Amino acid sequence: MSRQLTFSADGCAIRFKDEQFHYFCLPVGYDFSYTRYTIISAVKGRLTINIETFLMNDISITMSKTLNLKNLSLPQIEDFVLNLGAKKFHGRQLYKWIYQKRLSSFDDMTNMAKPFRAQLHECASINKLEPRSVIESRFGDAVKFGFALCESEHIAESVLLIDDNRRTACISSQLGCALGCTFCETGKLGFIRNLTQEEIIGQLIGINDYLISKGDKLITNIVFMGMGEALSNYDNFLSSLSIIMAEDGFNIGARRITVSTAGVIPSIERLIKEDLTIGLAISLNAWNNELRNSYMPINRKYPIEQLVEIAKKYHNKTGRRVTFEYVLITGVTDTPAAAAALHALLGGFPCKINLIPVNPAGNKEYNSPDERHVVRFSEELHRKGLAATIRRSRGQDISGACGQLTGSSINSYTGTRHAGPALLLSGTVQTRTVHIKTQIE
Ligand code: SF4
Repeated sequence: MSRQLTFSADGCAIRFKDEQFHYFCLPVGYDFSYTRYTIISAVKGRLTINIETFLMNDISITMSKTLNLKNLSLPQIEDFVLNLGAKKFHGRQLYKWIYQKRLSSFDDMTNMAKPFRAQLHECASINKLEPRSVIESRFGDAVKFGFALCESEHIAESVLLIDDNRRTACISSQLGCALGCTFCETGKLGFIRNLTQEEIIGQLIGINDYLISKGDKLITNIVFMGMGEALSNYDNFLSSLSIIMAEDGFNIGARRITVSTAGVIPSIERLIKEDLTIGLAISLNAWNNELRNSYMPINRKYPIEQLVEIAKKYHNKTGRRVTFEYVLITGVTDTPAAAAALHALLGGFPCKINLIPVNPAGNKEYNSPDERHVVRFSEELHRKGLAATIRRSRGQDISGACGQLTGSSINSYTGTRHAGPALLLSGTVQTRTVHIKTQIE
């Protein structure tokens, strides 16, 4: 099936609103092969596209005056500069300026000719996400960031965790989350939308800017454990990973990256096929379906036995020890019977259990065990031969700990909840696209 979309011809890229940022440059003859849609013909102002996967009323198009390079991969940037008449290597130079030097202006790219920079100004953008707030924990080991997003009244939250040698960025992949785990503040928001590649990577650029402003080193480790289920935003997660791991990008190796999932099994299957060796953390929190169903609705679709099975498959393929995250709730998941049931489920599988005392989020129905109790539960697991660690919950004083990220509306966002010494930065929401009249023929 094909549909012809007709629109005004003053721009060079369009985007589908429901799936964020699928750009098509409009100059005639441009190679669109990297997009997932089949372009049948493209002339200025008129694009015919195969949109079999779209329902008519799903299509809402905005037209950007500039192409946001942060939503492209390196090969796409190389295509783009070739299309502008530059050399392919200029694409790699651009890529380095954007991700390694974190520039937001083409003017500062001193190794590129002025006319080329002027050309880039005309048709491309590399704007940064604005940190609406930066809140430092009074303990000095965590910083919470609230990034204003383009075309959204919501905030994407990220947390920087500071250890001796590590600077770990915990980043968000969605606004809200559709999975509705009952112990999680993000889940209570419901699903708002996926974050784009630019918005996922933009959090890392903002955190690196902060670290450099403090005379510190750059991010060393990345965990996809912020707002949302990264594996439900698979394409943008994967394209962001390629920038994170690229030598000319963030140059962070697979062993320093972990994705956390509530158990989206088809995406874990896909990840296994990608041949990456990033860490996988599965939010388990129970030992049987009845209990897991009660706080993780996704378990009704992908039950616990299938989850353990896919974890074993992931381990066999990657050689990585899978982590099971296990929230400790007083009287429910921290009992001797719970330890025995966990052993029955996971015994003999070389995995790691990460014990996380439930955080005092808005939901008061769960009580967090005291430290003595947590240690006792951990020792019980060790006695049974299971490897267990206790996650020191950091960032609670800035509402930046596990399950506490809410991505409040930008209008209500002050970022000062339970804040320690806070460094508040001003920020504005920028609108970079213009809506155009779209006609579907
Ligand atoms: S715990 Fe993760 S998957 Fe569950 S609702 Fe929160 S963000 Fe979504």
